[in-house]
Amino acid sequence: MKKLALHWQILLGMVMGVVVALVLNNFSWGPGFIGDWIKPFGTIFINALKLIAVPLILASLIKGVSDLKDISSLSKMGLRTITTYVITTVLAVSIGLLIVNMIQPGSSISEDTRNELVEAYGGEAAMRQEQAAQQKEAGPLQALVDIVPDNIIGASANNKNMLQVIFFAIFFGIGLILIPEKTSKPVKDFFDGFNEVILKMIDLIMLAAPYGVFALLAALVVEAPSADLFAALGMYALSVIIGLILMIGVYLLLVWVFTKKSPKFFLNGMAPAQLLAFSTSSSAATLPVTMERVEEHLGVKKEVTSFVLPIGATINMDGTSLYQAVAAVFIAQAFGMDLSFGTQLGIIATATLASIGSAAVPGAGMVMLVIVLAQAGIPEAGLALIFAVDRPLDMCRTVVNVTGDATVSMMVAKSQGKLGEPHVKNWDDNYEH
Ligand code: ASP
Repeated sequence: MKKLALHWQILLGMVMGVVVALVLNNFSWGPGFIGDWIKPFGTIFINALKLIAVPLILASLIKGVSDLKDISSLSKMGLRTITTYVITTVLAVSIGLLIVNMIQPGSSISEDTRNELVEAYGGEAAMRQEQAAQQKEAGPLQALVDIVPDNIIGASANNKNMLQVIFFAIFFGIGLILIPEKTSKPVKDFFDGFNEVILKMIDLIMLAAPYGVFALLAALVVEAPSADLFAALGMYALSVIIGLILMIGVYLLLVWVFTKKSPKFFLNGMAPAQLLAFSTSSSAATLPVTMERVEEHLGVKKEVTSFVLPIGATINMDGTSLYQAVAAVFIAQAFGMDLSFGTQLGIIATATLASIGSAAVPGAGMVMLVIVLAQAGIPEAGLALIFAVDRPLDMCRTVVNVTGDATVSMMVAKSQGKLGEPHVKNWDDNYEH
């Protein structure tokens, strides 16, 4: 029998997870059973993916940078990557603002619902505000200071410090370019082999993906808040989702215009990474799979993926920035505030920066939203309004974050003449190579 393609297997796992959780939810012991016996497998799966992130960045970025052979091609690619990332993020925020101003989801929230939501989620919202306050207190150059670690072992000890690991890897790669080939060759060979091993480990982890997402989704269903609150926030959630879908359309257009690759080609290649982003809500956890798919299935050369994707996973979050724009204006509308054009322009700037500063982990976009709200003079207590639906929206925006990184890597690859043919001939490849 022909084996189902990986993305169908993952999709099946997700659907089964939701169905099983809905059924078990009807029994008094159901939620406890899922928490004790199913959820841990989801946690193990995410942990395994995160485990790979730091070694993968180190191995592939060091190899990628040193393969560039000279510093000028590195700086050319770096500049192009960062510029494209910022442009797509600004575009995403603008789409978000357009949609939220057109749909006006906040105007339909009644005062009663607003008070109910603030009461139900006020405590959790306060926690996010506190986390954000710590980030806000820092000076203007703190973000720059944070990129340079004072200890590489310390930096590698926390997945939140990915930017520091990236800094070390690029720095190391530059050192490798500058020493004579005779001495650099054994080091490069080591990292080549190391990289292969990591990729094989990703293949092995992905064999468990359908079961991992099954467990993740089942746990999410039993932990979700009541359906009434979801309904009250329906228009807001819908606005975010419409914006995110439009953004995916923008990516497909960009890929087609710049690389002449069809949407089908792009989506076929990316589907497993997108489904994983949806299930894990974390671009960092998805990174290993994103890299493998972009390289093997979209044909982007390793020199580009190894540089563009780890950076993208940490700083390019178009889905997050779009969501922050919609959420900020929604909260303002719910509190009866009228935002001026100038304030909305300000939101473009702060949401762009806030998404760059958001960590690639679940819920990070909401923490940074506090900064967008504060800058625009919108009540931060409004965070409580959107708490109930944040997780499903987090899942959706993470898909866009990951898709955006893949799009930009294709564009950068094309501009550098580093877009080739996919090396996986069979679309239904099931990680059996
Ligand atoms: N979960 C998102 C990511 O990892 C970040 C966020 O918007 O919360 O890409």
